[in-house]
Amino acid sequence: MPRIQILSDTLVNQIAAGEVVERPANALKELVENSLDAGADNLNIELLAGGTKLIKVIDDGGGIERDDLHLALHRHATSKIRSFDDLSRVATLGFRGEGLASIASVSRLVLTSRFEGAPHAWRVEADHGGVGEPEPAALAMGTTVEVHELYYQTPARRKFLKSDATEFAHCEDAVKRLALANPGRQFTLTHNGRAQLRLTRGDLARRCAELLGDEFVQSGVRLDERVGPLRLWGIAGSPTLSKASRDAQYFFVNGRFVRDKVVQHALREAYRDVLHHDRHAAYCLFLELDPEGVDVNVHPTKIEVRFRESQGIYRFVFSALSKALSGTRAGQTPANVD
Ligand code: ADP
Ligand code: MG
Repeated sequence: MPRIQILSDTLVNQIAAGEVVERPANALKELVENSLDAGADNLNIELLAGGTKLIKVIDDGGGIERDDLHLALHRHATSKIRSFDDLSRVATLGFRGEGLASIASVSRLVLTSRFEGAPHAWRVEADHGGVGEPEPAALAMGTTVEVHELYYQTPARRKFLKSDATEFAHCEDAVKRLALANPGRQFTLTHNGRAQLRLTRGDLARRCAELLGDEFVQSGVRLDERVGPLRLWGIAGSPTLSKASRDAQYFFVNGRFVRDKVVQHALREAYRDVLHHDRHAAYCLFLELDPEGVDVNVHPTKIEVRFRESQGIYRFVFSALSKALSGTRAGQTPANVD
């Protein structure tokens, strides 16, 4: 056996990138989450070739100070948590401090940012982990991140990428999830120079109408149930609008899109009596609970969570949704959504 060695920072980042940025859509999610965490109201996303050639996210958030630009690209550097305690009540989408470092280790990344009140912007470029010096740049406000040629120096990983159309579809999915959770913010998405999504700010019903269709909103049941610290709200699709696939199922926990077995089971059971067995409901639902009741630090991409009281969550989600759907069972007109 060769002697033990400590891996270089770049290699550590590249290994982590395998988990955090499996494909362009994951990188895009990390960038958009950063913009949301920075308080951006307007997010413009531009993609080339399904995100494999370019992922560009332009935001109007608070920006990054010149002297912090290097840190932003540094692994385990974050402005979002300071202590282990913070981890149990994290309110931002990011907190692991590895998104940008991972992406930068497998692409050429350009980060341009103008900190609130600064006379001009600064720009740094990172090529596979090597970060250059900040240079003055022109940018009206906020932050723009460009990810060029994801995985171009990592052919082994590039091989796993699918066609541009498939990668774009994953990117669009990621944007839809983030946009549904943030209807008060404006999003645009272009692919190869063509506009794909243009979402103006509004309420959840409007955002759902734009992304899931007017019929989903008009025939859907609006619910808002609270029990103690738990709240379930949003729009549960009418059984009449059921689909053969699960592609219109959106569930968010504290604003984060998640896939959770306990929740999915509760939703399925609640829909069971009103839905044909081979059909799938459409829904856009938000579960809110005390951050201490859910661990979001289970998986690098945070798509999985762990509930402290999963049985309680199951019962709450099941009964809140069953109650909302009982109207549809009795053939009543579903509650109107404003
Ligand atoms: P994390 O989001 O977990 O903190 P990242 O690597 O994604 O880790 O980002 C590192 C840091 O860079 C963030 O904590 C934040 O301070 C800063 N940052 C990244 N993107 C933006 C952005 N669009 N606007 C403002 N600050 C940003
Ligand atoms: Mg982040």
